[in-house]
Amino acid sequence: MAASRPVPFMSDPSPPYRGRFAPSPSGPLHFGSLIAATASYCQARQQQGQWYVRIEDVDEPRTVAGADSLILHALEAFGFQWQGEVVYQSRRKALYQDALHSLIAQNKVYACDCSRQQIRQSAQSGELGYIYPGHCRNNPASLDGEYALRLRVDNKPVFFEDTILGHQQQNLAEELGDFVIRRRDGLFAYQLAVVVDDALQGITDIIRGADLLDSTPRQIYLQRLLGYPTPSYAHLPLAINARGIKLSKKAGAAAININNPVPELFASLQFLGQQPPNALQQGDLHSLWQWAIEHWSLEKIPAEKQQLFAAP
Ligand code: GLU
Ligand code: ZN
Repeated sequence: MAASRPVPFMSDPSPPYRGRFAPSPSGPLHFGSLIAATASYCQARQQQGQWYVRIEDVDEPRTVAGADSLILHALEAFGFQWQGEVVYQSRRKALYQDALHSLIAQNKVYACDCSRQQIRQSAQSGELGYIYPGHCRNNPASLDGEYALRLRVDNKPVFFEDTILGHQQQNLAEELGDFVIRRRDGLFAYQLAVVVDDALQGITDIIRGADLLDSTPRQIYLQRLLGYPTPSYAHLPLAINARGIKLSKKAGAAAININNPVPELFASLQFLGQQPPNALQQGDLHSLWQWAIEHWSLEKIPAEKQQLFAAP
């Protein structure tokens, strides 16, 4: 007789867990991005979900040739295992164009020919930068011209519950104004590309650095206009150095040492509040991963937007 297996309920609406790591190839993997990779990977593995890697090279002028392979090699050396092919944003423009068309059809998009200087002189500045005052809202300029395209936003708050940081809200009109979804140089903005990719890849859970916390309401707003589901969001404390500066490629953070991954992964787990036992520092990579996935807990991650990181 066949062993009885649990039968899934036909009405079970929750999709399988899908997480992702989405580095921008502007330099090699550094400690700040290793933290995001580690957290999203451990959560996906613990949930028996899938984990994808996407190279976010939508901002072509900022892309450094060869940085994508450095990042992928580093991930391999650290023992990350991803699902399927790595996705490159630079190859997905037709998908972003489709989303843009849908927003245009909803009369949500207009061309903006303001210069930076005009905006600087007339706009108030908020915490996120200048609040675009909507000069061009009734601009008849063609959407096909060499102009930035902005998305009309609502004057009401967007709410979400961050799994780590708790309740968040932002009023896009008051704090940001209509924002750019396609740049004057014709490139799509990160905000649009990431929303399309997360939806089309079926990502259910996003775990990333708190530097993107402020972007999440824009992304949720776009998801609603495009008819996409909103994934769950968890934002990790940002690693800063003793001078209060974010560890990033821009700030010249050293690339991680891929020839000796154990101490780096150990430091990343420690940073994430997981308290790995010291003995694992002398062990092998496999044992460290095994411990990390088995003991992984999002609840142990400090609910802070920043956290000091002293290099090991
Ligand atoms: N590509 C972005 C970065 O490297 C991350 C985007 C995301 O995780 O949504 O900062
Ligand atoms: Zn304008």
